[in-house]
Amino acid sequence: MKLVVEKFGGSSVADRIRIEACADRIVRTRKEGNAVAAVVSAMYGETNRLIDMAHQYALEPSRREVDAMISTGEQVSSALLAITLQKKGCPARSFTGAQIAIVTEPVHGKARVSRVDVEKLEKVIADGIVPVIAGFQGIDEEGNITTLGRGGSDTTAVAIAAALRADECRIYSDVDGIFTADPNTVPDARVLDQITIEEILELAGVGAKVLQIRAVEFAYKYHVPMRVLSSFKDVPGTSITLGEDTMDMEQPLISGVAYNINEAKFTILGVPDRPGIASQVFSPIADAHINVDMIIQNIGTDNNTDLTFTIDRNEYASCGRILDDVVAQIGARGYTGSQDIAKISVVGVGMRSHTGIATKMFTTLANEGINIQMISTSEIKISVIVDEKYAKLGVRALHDAFNLSENNVPDREEAPQAVLQM
Ligand code: ASP
Ligand code: MG
Repeated sequence: MKLVVEKFGGSSVADRIRIEACADRIVRTRKEGNAVAAVVSAMYGETNRLIDMAHQYALEPSRREVDAMISTGEQVSSALLAITLQKKGCPARSFTGAQIAIVTEPVHGKARVSRVDVEKLEKVIADGIVPVIAGFQGIDEEGNITTLGRGGSDTTAVAIAAALRADECRIYSDVDGIFTADPNTVPDARVLDQITIEEILELAGVGAKVLQIRAVEFAYKYHVPMRVLSSFKDVPGTSITLGEDTMDMEQPLISGVAYNINEAKFTILGVPDRPGIASQVFSPIADAHINVDMIIQNIGTDNNTDLTFTIDRNEYASCGRILDDVVAQIGARGYTGSQDIAKISVVGVGMRSHTGIATKMFTTLANEGINIQMISTSEIKISVIVDEKYAKLGVRALHDAFNLSENNVPDREEAPQAVLQM
């Protein structure tokens, strides 16, 4: 018998009608001959409501207590789904992260999963019962409740799937699958039948709201086959392949274009050009658990360089406070910051074998009069930082230029090239 992990997002468990629909899915998946383990998010809006509530009691409520509060959202929805399954004659039992246990590092707000004890779950599943697991939460070794960061139920689902060696991890939400671009921004965006996990990793990393990036990293590391689909409609969704088998010419050149306006940028001015400086700048930032994304260091004249980097906009204030100290310590001239930026990325494994993609991207943006502030590339992604107000315009133009509303499989005639040329 196959084992399928089915994870339902916030809008899929938003109310009784929606939870009934989730229960029906699970029942159907079981009728198709599979065992099911379910994972749920909090009911739509609940996590935000709880966070707001905590902040009404104190300006900076302790992270430990916030975790204790917001983990209740998933506890409620897991019990409600279990109750609904039972009502439909399907044996089910809810579990919190602590009950399982999903053990995390001792960090509040965005803890990483360090291990999952599957013994209890395996027994429940062997007894023909559907475990309904509260997503987004775990406990640390001391027994404190932790949470995995916004969107963390995806990570719970993949971690459970990996630990149980499930045959598939299905992520149900209110979208039909993974699109070539955000359909709210690009009306003719298309659902992809499949995408490689590497591409998803890049898309999640640039802020495409498809999946929590840690979930994808987990899936990548433990080879968990995933599918993203809708709990509202009967559509096949997008399957996330492990990649190796899709390196053929049928692979579209570009799979998607994404943008992220949740970015901020700092430039440290007049940084002394000597060994160890980058480490002195970035160590305290890393210690504060702030993720640095792009980094550019300009070649200095007179032994000084400028160092520009981007971070999550939410961390803007705390990173600024760190830089106040850093600038004094390293003897830099000062720093500037900006929150009005956006990152646009085009992603596709086809880039490995085709040239000219960067040029096409830059030309397309130039034709729209959009100035590029920073550029970074990986083997399968090109990202640029632009003024926030041009983000949507840029995304639409690129979606058009790369023909993403159609299946843009490159001509078989085209000779594959080994390197990405700028
Ligand atoms: N409820 C949590 C959130 O809103 C986790 C999740 O939905 O995945 O971020
Ligand atoms: Mg989500």
